Amino acid sequence: MILHLSWSAQRALDPVVEQQRQFAQTLGYAQRQTRFYRDWPQATALTDLPRVQLLDFLRHPERFEVASARPDRPQELAYPLGRPPRTAVLSQEIRGSWRVRNFTSYRSETLRQFAPQALAAPGDTIRALAQSIEEGEIIWQPLSHALIVFTDLIRGSLSKEDRDYFWRVFQVPIFEQFRGFAGELLARECEAHNGMHIHVTNAIFSVGPDGQLETSFLGNPRAPLFRLATNLSARLAPGRCACGQTTPRLLDIRRRTAVSPSPRRLMVVNS
Ligand SMILES: [Zn+2]
Repeated sequence: MILHLSWSAQRALDPVVEQQRQFAQTLGYAQRQTRFYRDWPQATALTDLPRVQLLDFLRHPERFEVASARPDRPQELAYPLGRPPRTAVLSQEIRGSWRVRNFTSYRSETLRQFAPQALAAPGDTIRALAQSIEEGEIIWQPLSHALIVFTDLIRGSLSKEDRDYFWRVFQVPIFEQFRGFAGELLARECEAHNGMHIHVTNAIFSVGPDGQLETSFLGNPRAPLFRLATNLSARLAPGRCACGQTTPRLLDIRRRTAVSPSPRRLMVVNS
């Protein structure tokens, strides 16, 4: 009996099972609530659904959005190494605590007084801060723990140049967190620094036949969107990571070349 119970508990926490449950729930919700997926009532699997081009989504978000969805609570930080130290978050709303606090500007006096040990912010904000530090424009107390860099599908992943630059200026370990349109965590780097672990209840990643990374969003009630063609390329690595986690990892995320207009569009332009 005890064995049976512990087996059930383990099954309930199985990330694959949990992801399937979340997918089924999100798909049903999208089929009831969005204009686009209402036209796909028979779909039950990801492969039954069409690929959505990033530009089509950005041009017509209303087709995929649930206007009545209430905005989510601010997202969690998901600090990479256990309990967060004093962490300042810039330019992104993250659920706060006495250790994790949001600040509007890196020039603020309250941030200086907070004396953060770790910093979390989008890559562009960190780049601006790094330049201000380098040019001696602000007085900055060095970090002691970590730099967490938020990246996303539109701005792409951290480049090697970014990492080198951030390391030179901040001299603490760098952890990338890939986030969705509502700030929800899609994948995050662990202490092994070998790709980003997929947050399986918020996202499904797959690589299409053309090598393009496709993303399905399970953790954004405002836009339940499947198979978004991201115009990024990436690799998926299954298996156990050196950190001990077994969730698949995203590696080598790169921006592909610019999207060329569809042949139909070219014909219209030429005629
Ligand atoms: Zn890992």
